[in-house]
This record gives sequence, structure tokens and C-alpha cells, in this order.
Amino acid sequence: MKNEKKVPQKTNGKMAVSTGGNAPEGLHKFFVDGLKDIYWAEKALTKAIPKMIKNATSPELADALTNHLEETKGQVTRLEEVFTSLAEKAVAKKCDAMEGLIKEAEGIMSETDKGSMRDAGIIAAGQKVEHYEIATYGTLAAYAGLLGLSEVQSLLHESLAEEKAADEKLTDVTERAVMASSETEEQEA
Ligand code: FE
Ligand code: ZN
Ligand code: FE
Ligand code: FE
Repeated sequence: MKNEKKVPQKTNGKMAVSTGGNAPEGLHKFFVDGLKDIYWAEKALTKAIPKMIKNATSPELADALTNHLEETKGQVTRLEEVFTSLAEKAVAKKCDAMEGLIKEAEGIMSETDKGSMRDAGIIAAGQKVEHYEIATYGTLAAYAGLLGLSEVQSLLHESLAEEKAADEKLTDVTERAVMASSETEEQEA
């Protein structure tokens, strides 16, 4: 959306735009705030995913989560690289959304019995997490582009690609492992 109205820009004595073409003033700060938010979220996930792994019954689900836990640790490190390249301190700022999504995952795990339904709940909660991360990295990568920060943008695109792949993997696991294990449970019953 283009804002046609001319608004006087506060420059605080600095150049309004230092790195990228026509990015509005304020976008850089908004961008850095967003990085702090997802940094908190990724760190919180390095503690939340192990609980999901422990609660998973399907070995395929446990594998997918274990693999993504390793990627998540790498995403924390990648964000630290981003902060370094921006000459910003790596500061985590509490992400209310991720806190809520993790609470929801914990609620589902405590309300279900171990087995295919808890697995389905873990997948559903996990996919909400991935979608939040996809939205966040998509937006932040776009901002990096607007700000002319192409190296930072490619780092953010790497994490974005991992989140998309993790989301797709969880969809696969639902179709194969959860359906298969629910058939086994019926046979055992
Ligand atoms: Fe992540
Ligand atoms: Zn957040
Ligand atoms: Fe957020
Ligand atoms: Fe993720």
C-alpha cells in the first residue's frame, strides 16, 4: 500500500535512510525489534521441542521433531549472526505469540493420552508454531530486502526454508505415522 500523503519525516539529525533505497524511517528499528522477538521464540522452542519429542509415540514424529530441534538451535545461532552483521546486541524480547503457542502445545499434551491422538495434537500445535515462524521470517526477510540488507536477507531465507520444510514434514507424518499407529491401536484393542 502506498501512502500518498506527505508526512514530514523526523530525521533526528541522521540520514533518514542509510542502507536501502526508499525504506521508511522507523523500519530498521521495527525490523530489529522483530528479530529480538523471533530470537526469544527460537530459544523458547529449543526448550519446548524436547518435551514434544518425549510425548511423541510415532518414531517418525519423534525423528521429525528431533531433526527440527537441531535446525532450531542452528536458527538461534543464525539470528546471532544477523545481530552481529547489523552491529546490534543479540537481545531476546519476549514473544507473546510463541509463549501462547507453546502453552497450547503443553495443554494438548496434558489433555490427551499417549498415542496417536496425542501425536495428532503435537503435530497440530507444531504446525501452528511453524506457520507463525513462516509468517515472521517471511516478513523479516522482506524488510531486510527493503532495507538493502541482502546478506541478512539470505540468512533469514535459510531459516524460512527450514520452517517450510518442517511444516511439510509434519503434514507427511500425519498422513503416514498417525494414521498407521491408530490402525495398530485398533488392532491391539
Ligand atoms: Fe524456528
Ligand atoms: Zn513473537
Ligand atoms: Fe510475534
Ligand atoms: Fe520451526
